[in-house]
Amino acid sequence: MNLNKLLDEINELSNGRKVELVAVSKYVGSKEIKELFDEGQMSFGENRVQDLVKKSDELKELNLNWHFIGTLQTNKINALLKIRPTLWQSCNSIKLAQAVDKRLDYKLDTLLEINVADEDSKTGLDISLAIESYCAIKESCKNLNLKGIMCIGAHSDDELEVAKSFEKAYVIYESLQSKGAEICSMGMSSDYKIAIKCGSNMIRVGSLLFK
Ligand SMILES: *Cc1c(COP(=O)(O)O)cnc(C)c1O
Repeated sequence: MNLNKLLDEINELSNGRKVELVAVSKYVGSKEIKELFDEGQMSFGENRVQDLVKKSDELKELNLNWHFIGTLQTNKINALLKIRPTLWQSCNSIKLAQAVDKRLDYKLDTLLEINVADEDSKTGLDISLAIESYCAIKESCKNLNLKGIMCIGAHSDDELEVAKSFEKAYVIYESLQSKGAEICSMGMSSDYKIAIKCGSNMIRVGSLLFK
């Protein structure tokens, strides 16, 4: 889908409420990213540190906003921090949060990734631990600026099932607003419409834009 069409659609679905689009560029190279930038897109997401390092270097003069959305291995933390990402969306444990915090010499905007789909295959912190972990990270990790939550919706053809998983995430997000949460990152190519209806204010769309 073309960028402007997607932006129009987002605007319509959200009734004008602000929903940020992160273009997930993990399927493409710097050339395609540059093309979307030329159409006005500033925020891009990658799920592998090596790819993020390479592309952000190739495109450094564009000053893009890079979001890291993938599993972070401990041995890749320094490489990630060096590029100063705009938002680390995939913090999924207190232990990982502390490992990153300890290596930071600046404040990094971060989201807590929670598992609302309840599938073994999904990464993310168990939903029952979300609130206490959020508070514990906020308390103990002074260089992480926790700004909300991220989740991947239930993998299902049943829209109600998907909506249910987003609703669970939204409830957590709402109760964290008093602790400064302002970003609820949920929705991908297959389910962004449902996610926006459930209150998402940041969607991460890849294949729909790039395939
Ligand atoms: C790949 C990915 C996306 C984008 O998925 P699409 O289905 O291609 O839109 C969003 N979030 C995460 C965490 C991803 O890994």
